[in-house]
Amino acid sequence: MSNKLRIGFIGLGIMGSSMAGHLLAAGHPLNVFNRSKAKTDELVAKGAQWFDSIGDLAAQSDVIITMVGYPSDVEEVYFGAGNILDRAQNAYLIDMTTSSPSLAKKIADEAEKRGCHALDAPVSGGDIGARNAKLAIMVGGKQADFDAMLPIFQLMGSNVVLQGGPGAGQHAKMCNQIVIAGTIMGVSEGLGYAKSLGLNPETVMESIGGGAASGFQLVNLGAKMIVGDFAPGFYVEHFLKDLGIALEEAQKSNLELPALALAKRLYEDLVAKGCGRNGTQVLYTRYVPAN
Ligand code: NAP
Repeated sequence: MSNKLRIGFIGLGIMGSSMAGHLLAAGHPLNVFNRSKAKTDELVAKGAQWFDSIGDLAAQSDVIITMVGYPSDVEEVYFGAGNILDRAQNAYLIDMTTSSPSLAKKIADEAEKRGCHALDAPVSGGDIGARNAKLAIMVGGKQADFDAMLPIFQLMGSNVVLQGGPGAGQHAKMCNQIVIAGTIMGVSEGLGYAKSLGLNPETVMESIGGGAASGFQLVNLGAKMIVGDFAPGFYVEHFLKDLGIALEEAQKSNLELPALALAKRLYEDLVAKGCGRNGTQVLYTRYVPAN
């Protein structure tokens, strides 16, 4: 019998499947649940245990990690009848979904009443970072809980920082998304300009990808834009969810963030055009129509 912490993982999509894979590879007994069961097949073949219900998984896990889609999914897996908060016992509850700071606080309050330890721990680094265990993990919660879970986080990420109390991890993630919102508009416009003026986007990338404009969005997503690869690493509809959360939080603090507001409008247009399940780099098609 392994003396390693038993980890329950809920939400085995693009990000969760890679992240959970690292935990399993490190020797943790891994319990899994996902809305579509088939997405856990590969992990189960490698030794993870499938559970038919979130509650049963929660009752048999020392650490429960959630990596679902939207705040409404987070509500459901934590607060749904018979789900995590009803069945977890003295467990660490880590929500790594990008979700709202106020929901993170609500989970932390409820967890404490029930003798559990909650951390909000959204990530940055994309599908590539998840695959390579190089995520940046932004954590909100108590120092002692953070310290206890640090070895688990370090199996999935290379940059793990406690940002403050409950909700602070989600707020830090909103800072990240605000930066990306402005950046991806710039990348799309710059590469759209190159294409429209008849420059060779490949040679433009060769120059600007190594200069002061360089960064993850330009190097990774810019490269996909110019070859017309709009497959999702990060879904447009998830990005739009994040932009909505960030804008709502900014409005609560009477902050005006015009670039964020513009990005939200542009991504709403893309969803209206049926691009919600494309990757965020599809913004390029606003400037250069897809073939
Ligand atoms: P995804 O591929 O849609 O994964 C989410 C998974 O959660 C799906 O497999 C979904 O099931 C499952 N799920 C949703 N609600 C559930 C519920 N109530 N019960 C059980 N399972 C449920 O999305 P992702 O790209 O991995 O992103 C996950 C989260 O990380 C999102 O909040 C996203 O904003 C954030 N994020 C993503 C990236 C990225 O680059 N992809 C980077 C940083 C952060 P189904 O398979 O049935 O849909």
